[in-house]
Amino acid sequence: MNKKWFIKPKYTITSKIKYSDEKNADVKSDSQWIKCPLCSAIIYNEDLKNNQMVCDSCAYHFRIDSRERISSLVDEGSFNEFNEELSSGDPLEFTDASGTYIDKVINAKKKTSRNEAIITAVAKINNRDVVLAVMDFSFLGGSMGSVVGEKIYQSVLHAIEIKAPLIIISASGGARMHEGILSLMQMAKTSAALTLLSDAKLPFISILTNPTTGGVTASFAMLGDVIISEPKALIGFAGPRVIEQTIKTKLPEGFQRAEFLKQHGFVDIICDRREMKSLLDTLFDFFMEEERAL
Ligand SMILES: [Zn+2]
Repeated sequence: MNKKWFIKPKYTITSKIKYSDEKNADVKSDSQWIKCPLCSAIIYNEDLKNNQMVCDSCAYHFRIDSRERISSLVDEGSFNEFNEELSSGDPLEFTDASGTYIDKVINAKKKTSRNEAIITAVAKINNRDVVLAVMDFSFLGGSMGSVVGEKIYQSVLHAIEIKAPLIIISASGGARMHEGILSLMQMAKTSAALTLLSDAKLPFISILTNPTTGGVTASFAMLGDVIISEPKALIGFAGPRVIEQTIKTKLPEGFQRAEFLKQHGFVDIICDRREMKSLLDTLFDFFMEEERAL
């Protein structure tokens, strides 16, 4: 056996991933002005909101919550949420130094005014029925526990029932560790559910936003018939800092960003948030025409 494999190398990491200036980027400012973390432009908050939270100078996409995203995509008044009442239990009675899981869930509910890290709904996009599942990073980092998995599963069943395309918009730090193996099981559950949609010959459009990582990337988010990403979104399994520390190698510029993934075949389309509705319409024209032709 080559014992060198197990010797820890002496060199240390010297590189730092760029884009690190983003760390404060998604903090919403109470002031009327906000600084773009990418180009440093000073933007009037109201202008930013009117531009779907995209910087007009450099097209940096600020993080938005699930409700803002839904209102930017669906026809006015067409949104009907289902399974809104589903909420996490605490199967493992998990607690750590920062407190109990159940307290974290209660705080997240208060902070976001919603019950879980995903909203599922039936809605219309340009007058066409769709089933929509939108994750919310502000609820425990958009982590996937049993409820997120179940709501995605139910969304698939609903899409099949009404013969509509399914859109899942991901924003997630990965599986919810507080639910242990039960959260990891959701990766298999959601992936298996999507095969039902495939059997029903209905399209699944996966939209990745900043960040989409961990167990969500390793399951349903990368199983779209078409995988779309917002520009410069961080998409990966382990984060770049963890990989650098593990393999002791400097990662290339832009590693795990949407553009890098598209270049390497993991993402099909990079789409500006302001063009997303029109792109979805084009895709549905194509897929649903195919469906009618079969
Ligand atoms: Zn900018």
